[in-house]
Amino acid sequence: MAVQLVWFKRDLRIIDHAPLAAAAAAGPVLPVYVIEPGYWQQPDTAARHWAFIRESLVELDQRLSELGLALRVLQGDLPDVFARLHAQHGIAAIHAHEETGNAWTYARDQSVAAWCREAGIALHETPQFGVVRGLRSRDAWLGHWERRMKAPQVEMPAPIIAAPDVRPASEGEAPLVHYPAQALPEALGQDRTPCPGRQTGGRNAGLDLLASFLAERGETYRQGMSSPTSAEHVCSRLSAHIAYGTLSLKEIVQTHRRRWLAAKSAAPRSHWAQSLKSFESRLHWHCHFIQKLEDEPSIEWRNLHRGYDGLRDEDGVDPMRYAAWAQGETGLPFVDACMRQLAHDGWINFRMRAMLVAISSYHLWMHWREPAQYLARLFTDYEPGIHYCQFQMQSGTTGINTLRIYNPVKQSRDQDPKGAYIQRWIPALANVPADWIHEPWRLPAGLQQRYGIKLGRDYPWPVVDHEQAAREARQKIKAHRASRHLGRESARVRRQHASRAPSPERPRHKAKTDRRQGELDL
Ligand SMILES: Cc1cc2nc3c(=O)[nH]c(=O)nc-3n(C[C@H](O)[C@H](O)[C@H](O)COP(=O)(O)OP(=O)(O)OC[C@H]3O[C@@H](n4cnc5c(N)ncnc54)[C@H](O)[C@@H]3O)c2cc1C
Repeated sequence: MAVQLVWFKRDLRIIDHAPLAAAAAAGPVLPVYVIEPGYWQQPDTAARHWAFIRESLVELDQRLSELGLALRVLQGDLPDVFARLHAQHGIAAIHAHEETGNAWTYARDQSVAAWCREAGIALHETPQFGVVRGLRSRDAWLGHWERRMKAPQVEMPAPIIAAPDVRPASEGEAPLVHYPAQALPEALGQDRTPCPGRQTGGRNAGLDLLASFLAERGETYRQGMSSPTSAEHVCSRLSAHIAYGTLSLKEIVQTHRRRWLAAKSAAPRSHWAQSLKSFESRLHWHCHFIQKLEDEPSIEWRNLHRGYDGLRDEDGVDPMRYAAWAQGETGLPFVDACMRQLAHDGWINFRMRAMLVAISSYHLWMHWREPAQYLARLFTDYEPGIHYCQFQMQSGTTGINTLRIYNPVKQSRDQDPKGAYIQRWIPALANVPADWIHEPWRLPAGLQQRYGIKLGRDYPWPVVDHEQAAREARQKIKAHRASRHLGRESARVRRQHASRAPSPERPRHKAKTDRRQGELDL
């Protein structure tokens, strides 16, 4: 009997998994994950992504075995791997979640779809978030999101029939590269920077995070999310689990709403109620941003607002500035500390991500494309739809968002007043007291000696005068805007991509205050 192939991609769970349930209802199930060498050669891939996926696959295999199924982890190009499985098993249908990935996965999905059409195999793709494929208008988007998140979680039918073992390759045919889940490749991806603080993959780790966030850690989420010292504890830290689908967004939303309702009825103005309201907004934003890439895939490499083409040099970045930024050696201590934490942990909070982009795009005046790929490699939670849209938004190329040129010294004083975070990530500044640590370039030579540091030797002089650089960036943008007619394209971007509805956290009358806080401007 021909098999129902379940193609796992960024949905590494069995709970609330519509493709798996549909396959199980239709016939013998063949669960497959394909390691695609072409994908792992892309410039936005990293060993930390694979390490998280690898752990998640091991757990997925265990969960599938409880259903009597065995995960096949195969290596090769698609659709070639499917063609060979078809020759061996006979595939009746392929079931998968829709994916809004990068240009490479988009092209691969198209060639899989073309192959399925040619081979007469049904390809069933199901939405996994609130992202709507073929969306005609943004006006009704929020309603779609709400309906999907409120829908009951998908249940598995019983009994489940497993596909028979793979028939061995015929004579002369190279066997498919097949990995047992316990012996998956160690490292894949272009960036191999060690990431000792990386979050653990797998559904169990995700469930633990969700539980501890809703029970204890989330109480001061709203107050603590902006500082990198508190954010690592008070933020949910669910992003990588959402990105690789070890938890479904729907199950997170539903669990969170039960908790939010209880918090609101107990004390509507409590820290808990306020924090969970802010969290709800972010769960919307997740899909709101991915929807933009779904609707306009070129956001990955082209300015969203075409009127900003030519604003920055597109032919590559200044290598000295880029190296200083990427290695956490700009001489701006708070910026460098953030970059170093990110490299070490694979995660940093939203505001610090935005600041790192602002420094690269405004103060160092680099085009966003190469830095965006660099940060994609450093984020364990890399999600193309959020990533490129946020990157462009923080670089001022969307035409509809407020410019946010973060002042790195102000951020440093606000978010790390005592300098403890800087001292932790930049050992050369470990003995510099709070009065000087935010701007060590002001230290007189005598004090440098007292604090055991020599600028230019132990820690770099600033790569730019940040105040002067910010002024110049503002002037360049002003001059660019004055030289172009940007209005029509801005209207197009707003019509196609801007949020229509007030979010739970942002009734219309509050929008201005929120913009001042620098976070809400979608
Ligand atoms: C330049 C830049 C690049 C980014 N790239 C990514 C990325 O590749 N992957 C990614 O998941 N997030 C990205 N973000 C958004 C955000 O910073 C992270 O989602 C968040 O820091 C993850 O931590 P958390 O899970 O503890 O988030 P929480 O604050 O606990 O939020 C819960 C969830 O809401 C979603 N979310 C939170 N903030 C945002 C936001 N601003 N926009 C969209 N969704 C949001 C995420 O899925 C997150 O896991 C980026 C932000 C910036 C400024």
